[in-house]
Parts: sequence; structure tokens; C-alpha cells
Amino acid sequence: MALEEIFPFIYGVRVLYVNAFLLAEDEGITLIDSGLANRKETFLRALSEIKRSPEELKHIVLTHHHTDHTGNLAALVEASGAEVRVHPLDAPIVRGEKPVPGANPKSIVSKMLWPLVGRLSVYNRLAPARVDHEVTDGQELPMAGGMKAVHTPGHTAGHMCYLLERHGGILFVGDAAGNVFGRLGPPLAMSTEDMGQAKESIRKLAELEFDVACFGHGRVLKGKANAAFRRLVEKMTR
Ligand SMILES: [Zn+2]
Ligand SMILES: [Zn+2]
Repeated sequence: MALEEIFPFIYGVRVLYVNAFLLAEDEGITLIDSGLANRKETFLRALSEIKRSPEELKHIVLTHHHTDHTGNLAALVEASGAEVRVHPLDAPIVRGEKPVPGANPKSIVSKMLWPLVGRLSVYNRLAPARVDHEVTDGQELPMAGGMKAVHTPGHTAGHMCYLLERHGGILFVGDAAGNVFGRLGPPLAMSTEDMGQAKESIRKLAELEFDVACFGHGRVLKGKANAAFRRLVEKMTR
């Protein structure tokens, strides 16, 4: 596990290739996404490393239903009593009421690699988890001094980004875009439900004001992060 301090109260928790983020404030801790399955201890260790207890984890806010972002959810809710938030379109999948959609059938890679891809953990069923609040576009969430939800459909129908309007704006991107190998780009086609919509969502993000972008996959972008999104939009339209 790698625990990275991004700001004095924001920490990245990386498990293999997936990032989750802890927003540690005096009045309580918010976790954005909950990592790969079967890694509850990683998160409990991260909390103890920053000298906080599981009971202080008050909110878990999900970007989308994929299991590399919702692993440990049920276990962490049980350990902490945290309230869970997700968009209404992804909520039934998190609750286990709807099956996990498979890989995008239009993606050539997924056609060729389906026998392998189908076995990836992303498409596994997880233990169903409770969702306490369904979050809609533009909603101001009460944690971390106010965090705005931005609906960014495409990667999944209910994908959400979250914007902290402090420190010049800190955007939690989830899988609406990735910054793998130092390259900002659209999400992987293979695991994206609707790539056209995903690109529209990147345009929507590029119009926001933020200085820092924290991704589900890849490194944090610090300093004029939204300019990088605007360059990506230009590249996509060329
Ligand atoms: Zn995803
Ligand atoms: Zn992901």
C-alpha cells in the first residue's frame, strides 16, 4: 500500500493500480471510492497511519459501481458505520439489485480478450452494500466543507466526479479520465459503457475550475490540472 499526502488533509490510498482518497478532517473522515476487493485491512491501516480510528470514517462517496472502486464497501461500512453515497443509476448495482454490466461489446479489445477480460475482478460480483444517499448532478454534499457532485456519465451511466472548491479546486475524477503513464486520456474503452458520452463528460469537466485532479488510475495532476483537460478536449476534437 502507498499512502500519499496530497494536501495536509487529503491522502491517496493506492492498492495495486487503483486509487482511493481519504479526506481527513477534524469533524470526520470521507473516503472517495473503496478500492479493490478484499483489502479492508489496507484502509484500516491507512486510517491508523494518519492516527485516526475507523469510527471517524463518516462518509464513503463512490464515483461509480466498478468493483475496483467499490471493493471493501460492505466491510468498511460494517467497521465504521459510514454513510454511502452514489448516483441513482449506479446505486442498484452497488446494492446488488442489478447485475454488473459486462465489458463494452463495441470495444475490439474486449471482443478479442473477452475470455480473459470476463474474469477480471472489475466484473465480479461483490457483496451487496448499503447505499444511504443517492447523489444527483450539481448537488452540494455536506462533507469536507462542501463538495460538489458532477454527473459524468459514459464510463458508467451513473459515474460521478466530486469537486472540492478549495485550494484552487480539487477534482476527484474517478474513471471519467485517467492519467496512466503520465498521460491524461479518456477512460479505457474496454470498461467504458458509452465512449461518446464519456468524451462529452470530459468536455464538461474541462469547463470547471480546478488546480488539482485526483484519478482512480494514474498519478495526481497538480497545478493547472484543468488546462490539461482543456488540451485533451482540443486533441479529441481534432
Ligand atoms: Zn471504472
Ligand atoms: Zn477503475
